[in-house]
This record gives sequence, structure tokens and C-alpha cells, in this order.
Amino acid sequence: MSQPTQLSYSGLLTQINTGAVKNLVLIPARREVKVLFIDGTQQIVPILPNDQLILRTAEASGTPLTVKDLRSEQALASVTGNLALIMIVIVGLGFLFRRSANITNRTMGFGRSQPRIKAQDQLPIRFEDVAGISEATEELQEVVSFLLKPDRLIKLGAKIPRGVLLIGPPGTGKTLLAKAIAGEAGVPFFSIAASEFVELFVGVGASRVRDLFNKAKEKAPCIIFIDEIDAIGRQRGTGIGGGNDEREQTLNQLLTEMDGFTENSGIILLAATNRPDVLDSALTRPGRFDRRIFVDLPDRKGRKDILSVHARTRPLSEEVSLNDWAIRTPGFSGADLENLLNEAAIITARDQKCLISNHHIENALERITIGFTAAPLQDNAQKRLIAYHEVGHALVAVLTPKADRLDKVTLLPRTGGIGGFTKFVQDQDIIDSGLITKSYLFARIVVTLGGRAAELLVFGDNEVTQGASSDLQEVANLARDMVTKFGFSTLGPLSLESSGPEIFLGRDLMQGRTEYAQSTGKEIDLQVRQLAKLAMDQATKLLKPRRDVMDRLVDALIDEETLYIDRFLTLAGLG
Ligand code: ADP
Repeated sequence: MSQPTQLSYSGLLTQINTGAVKNLVLIPARREVKVLFIDGTQQIVPILPNDQLILRTAEASGTPLTVKDLRSEQALASVTGNLALIMIVIVGLGFLFRRSANITNRTMGFGRSQPRIKAQDQLPIRFEDVAGISEATEELQEVVSFLLKPDRLIKLGAKIPRGVLLIGPPGTGKTLLAKAIAGEAGVPFFSIAASEFVELFVGVGASRVRDLFNKAKEKAPCIIFIDEIDAIGRQRGTGIGGGNDEREQTLNQLLTEMDGFTENSGIILLAATNRPDVLDSALTRPGRFDRRIFVDLPDRKGRKDILSVHARTRPLSEEVSLNDWAIRTPGFSGADLENLLNEAAIITARDQKCLISNHHIENALERITIGFTAAPLQDNAQKRLIAYHEVGHALVAVLTPKADRLDKVTLLPRTGGIGGFTKFVQDQDIIDSGLITKSYLFARIVVTLGGRAAELLVFGDNEVTQGASSDLQEVANLARDMVTKFGFSTLGPLSLESSGPEIFLGRDLMQGRTEYAQSTGKEIDLQVRQLAKLAMDQATKLLKPRRDVMDRLVDALIDEETLYIDRFLTLAGLG
């Protein structure tokens, strides 16, 4: 529709005079007049301030004219706006009052209404669900027998410990053990993390402890499990960082409650921590947490047993040997192993298969330890460089007798900027005994430097990349440990750096403590550097005469993306 052309002021006067205008609305505040024509169209025409002419013309032609007073409309609008604002403020204040009243109520009510402090009855977990930590399990059997047949033991004068401290790294099954006791004995299970006691307001934690014990007394015999007890059980009054009244009061209340229940009242308190060294001595004295049970990372057999427990609900294909997977997962906790099988199950489901195979577990392991697979590398030059780097590691490893056994080398990138990686399997003797030799550590440094050595040989000094930075970090750590902790240098059989973290300053702030003079410090640096250089020379010596082997391996790696040990050895002419 075409827009009517803008009517001029004089044009408007003419239109009024000719009777083409039906009515006029004058808006003085905006200095305009709204014109409604006989044919139904409308126009707005600007006018002069205090325009008299248009009034007269309208009057003369008998055209109806109204005047619109905008100011009164605006005044009304602003009153409405102000009223709305006042209402919002009132509602907001009301909300704030309600909240602060709630907080006050909570403080006064001592958190009694916390729904978390609630017993779990009839837990389905049994000792057979806890694998790989048989010593801890055996020690806890007697707690169960006390809960089941207290009279027999009391008659014999047996005193059952009131508190059992489960000590071990996260994920090793401490919570699971506590639940298994409750499950075996068929008693209620109260569980709380110590950090949940501590609140903003002083006194709330203590009242929660009271509340917990009151509830437990009603339900006795029962188990109370306090996770991460170090959150409230740290040594009191150490002075650093000021006191923490709330924590101390909570701890005091816990101690009081523990003294309050008699030996055979039927409440057994279990607590978990991985920092027993920081606990207040009052907590660990006889009559309180006097029984300590270590729940360590599982050994190979333990890992196999834990895998078997978690494989009960997951269909594995025939080929899967849990023993092999236990060998390949040193350092894994129970929770890690469960996670491994869980990831494998997810991958299997995504693959639309019914049985979990070795391939799926392998994928899951890499996903957990290295990261998700990323899109394959496109850039050929970059891919080649990474290939040489990884082949460097792998070739040095197979040529070094004491090194870890090569498992595979792959160019499939992972998230987190990893372009490829070389995977090793540690010797079973080392895993089992935990003892490592000087020659093994040196071999590890040589293999770690193999990547950088290959880059240098193939691409030259100017083209080496920062990709090896994490390798160099590892070399520095290993070499330093050899010199300062294990006495593997000419500095003599001395431990020059203590490894225990300082207890009250947080682990990272004050890791280790130096125990040598400045001149010795220089000597240490020199020895560390010498070790690294020696290892680098060794790696270069192994790779330099084998340039053609490296080229062959790199071509195959780029082509096939993953080379397993057998294929690798065949290609290298070592198979
Ligand atoms: P923690 O309390 O020591 O941190 P949890 O008991 O919470 O560890 O363990 C987490 C999960 O890991 C458990 O629910 C269980 O599935 C698995 N898990 C850990 N240790 C074991 C074990 N020894 N046997 C079987 N499963 C375990």
C-alpha cells in the first residue's frame, strides 16, 4: 500500500477549508495535530507552538477540533509507575525478612530438621560385595558378630571398640565396608560427611552431632559412619590461620558423645580418613577411635577380585580375562575399577553389542587414563612430527633392556591436546614388590627423552617442539628423586629432601623440606643435569644409526594409526 504523501501545513489549511477533514485532534505538548479525513485516512501534521491560525480555520469551516492534554496522562502514568515500584520494594523487603527469620529459626532449631541425618535400614550390601581388601574385611567381621550376638561376647568380658578408624585413599571401599557391616548385621546405618556438620554459625555443628547421636541411640544397635573425619577432627589449636571455633566445638561435642555411650550400648562409630596424621590425638586415644584399619589400594589379586565383583552385573565376552586387566591397572582403586567396567559397558552399548569385549575395556581404559578420542589429525606435517616423537619413545624402549615393556604406539589423538601416545606395561615384579632399581629409573628417563631425541635427529634443533614439555617435566622429577631421595648419585646415600607434606599448611604450599647447605643445592642441580644429559645422549645413540628403521615405522604408523608390539617389532626388524 502506498503511503500518503506528507501533508504540508498550508495544505492542511486548504483541506480544512474545502471540507475534506472530518476532525482534528490538537496535541500542544507535541506541537502536532492529528488529522482524520472524510475518506478515513489519518495524518499527523506539525504545527507552530501556540498556533492560533489552525484554531481559527477549524472554527471558520466548522470542523470539530479537540485538544489533548498529554501532561495529565503523563502524570497518571508516573503515579502508576511509582506505585508499582513501591509494591516491588515492599514485596522484596517481606521476602528478605522471611529469609532472615528462617535462618534464625534454623540456628535456634540447631539444624534438627536436617533430613540428611536419617538411618538407612536393611542395606543390601554384604562382605562378599567388598573385594580385594580381605584384611580389613576380616578385622571388621568381629564388629558384626558383636552386633549380632552381643550377649555372648559381653559374658566373656569382651570390650568392643567404640570407634573404628578406616584409613586409606579415596575410592578404596571404606564407605562400602561400613555399609557391608550394617548390611551383614541387619542394623540401621547412619552416614554423614564430617563437612556437613560444620556450618556458618557457631554451635550448629555441635548440635548436629548431638542430634545424630540422639537419633542413633533410639535406633541402637546401629552403625554411624562419618566420612572424611579430618574435616572436623584436625589437631586443635595449631595457631596457623587462626582458630576455628565452630570446628573445635563440633569436635568437642563428638568426643563428649563418644564418652557418653557405654562400651556395649550397641552404637558403633566408623570414620574414614586418608589423613590420619592430622587427626587430633584426643580422637585417637583409647576409648575413642582406638581401632585403626588400613584400607589400601588393592594389589593385583585384589584388583582381579574387585573386577569380578563388578563383572557380576555386566555381561563379559568369553575372551575377557579379568586377570589380564588386573595386571594392566596398577594403582587403580576399587572405585576406579568399577568406573572402568562401567565405561566399558557404556561403550559396548554405544557399539550396539550385548557383550563387553577386550576392545571395549581397552577403549574405556584409555578414555579414563588419557582422555576421549578426538578427531583424527589432518595436518600431515604435524602428524609426521608426532609420529617421529612417539616412535622415538617406543624404539628406545624396545632397545633398552631394563625399560617397561612396550604395549603399543598410536597416533589417534585424544582430548587435551594429546596427538598420540606410547603405552607401556610395567613389569609384574615391580608392581608386586614396589621396589625399583637405579637402572630401571635411568631406563625410564632414557625412554622419556626418546621422543625429544627423535625430533632433534629428524627435524633439527630449530624445529623441535614444545610437545615434549611434559616429558621433560617427568625427567626432571625422576632425576631429582634419584639424586635427593634415593641416594642414586655420587652425593652419597643421603635423603636430602623429606617427602612428607607439612601437615597444617596444606600440601602444595610446603611440599617437602630441604636438608642441605647451599653448596649442596648446586651440586644437586649439577647431578640432575648430568643424569638428564647422560640419558639424552643414550637415547640419541640408540636412534641415530636407526634412521631408516624410524622412517619405516613412522610411515606404517601414519598409515595404520596404531602399532601393537608384535607389528612394531617386526617392522623394526627386531621381531
Ligand atoms: P571410599 O569411601 O573409600 O572413598 P567408596 O566405598 O565410596 O570409597 O567406593 C566407591 C565405590 O567404588 C563403591 O561403591 C564400589 O562400587 C567401588 N569399590 C571401591 N572399593 C571396592 C572394593 N574393595 N570392592 C568392590 N567395590 C569397590
